Amino acid sequence: MPGRRSLALGPLRHCLRRWLRRRWPAPLRSLGLRWRYGRLCLRSLLYNSFGGSDAVIDALFEPIYWLVDHVTRWFGVVSGPRGLSGGRTRHPPPRPARRSRPAERRPDRRRPRQVFVALVVVLTGSIVLIVYLCVLPLILRTYSVPRICWHLVYGHWNLLLIVFHYYQAVTTSPGHPPQDKSEVATVSICRKCIYPKPARTHHCSICNRCVLKMDHHCPWLNNCVGHFNHRYFFSFCFFMTLGCLYCSFSSWDLFREAYAAIETYHQTPPPPFSFWERLSHKSIIYLWVLCSSVGLALGLLTLWHAALISRGETSIERHINRKERQRLQKKGKVFRNPYNYGFLDNWKVFLGVDAGRHWVTRVLLPSRHPPPGSGLSWDSPLCASTRPLALLAV
Ligand SMILES: [Zn+2]
Ligand SMILES: [Zn+2]
Repeated sequence: MPGRRSLALGPLRHCLRRWLRRRWPAPLRSLGLRWRYGRLCLRSLLYNSFGGSDAVIDALFEPIYWLVDHVTRWFGVVSGPRGLSGGRTRHPPPRPARRSRPAERRPDRRRPRQVFVALVVVLTGSIVLIVYLCVLPLILRTYSVPRICWHLVYGHWNLLLIVFHYYQAVTTSPGHPPQDKSEVATVSICRKCIYPKPARTHHCSICNRCVLKMDHHCPWLNNCVGHFNHRYFFSFCFFMTLGCLYCSFSSWDLFREAYAAIETYHQTPPPPFSFWERLSHKSIIYLWVLCSSVGLALGLLTLWHAALISRGETSIERHINRKERQRLQKKGKVFRNPYNYGFLDNWKVFLGVDAGRHWVTRVLLPSRHPPPGSGLSWDSPLCASTRPLALLAV
């Protein structure tokens, strides 16, 4: 009964409301009309099968998503010719399967034009320039011939290895699993790519692809660090640390002299330094501060990666293995990393050292030899003398 009564009263109430509205003053009537129009618009946005308050919030946040995407792209974190389609649609639909290329090591077509790569190049170039213009003339003037030879040979060898490994790390593809399911010893399926994922492969949300033996995504390389460029990345860190420490120690005396000279700038009468002498003092201070700080920070990073390599782990696997270790420990079991071949063999596998001479030709000299294995399966490599204790897919 109450329902029937409200049905009967509904049109009456509507007529009464319209009659009252006609008696309103004109401004109030116009305001009421606008209010009803706005409310209708809002309802048409909110009350449909595709929307709701979520759609409104998404629409409000759309400029923020756009800004974040473009800023990160500008900073060089997001890379690749495909880029992002903007907003929250970070993952494009999977591409159709194509004729597979086994264990690819194709050159990356991305141009190193991003900001962090440019920053590495500019900072390294500025240090080299200062060494050539300010430090080297002093070495040539004051040092004995054997010491001059040592500085010239060591300095240029170190610079060559830094440049070589950085270039290789930036331009070498880390390796991606083929998209043909029949070719891969599949461990799981990537939820983002919807393609088979071999052991040690992980999805990089920045590259938007699965990466073989992924370690991490490095904005300083504008590239992922994976199976095919892990050695280049580590060698770059190692030789850059050596170079920074070498510059810091070599220029220590110059730094102290330049610092003392700068402290006299504001004395009266002012010291008779020319413009180039003042520039030289400031350049040496810049060189020492930059090399010391980068050498310290990068040295710690290099030590961290060296510890991981010694245990046969990547940065990602370290977290996975730690959790697995804790889980098995509670059950009274011991976790063994299946990719840990022992300290020396881990380094041999990582550096691709098959024979004794390779420590010189492949480690201490620039070498483009590929890492052992395809990155798809992880049987015990030839250069590892011991076999893993168990095969556990991580
Ligand atoms: Zn993936
Ligand atoms: Zn990546």
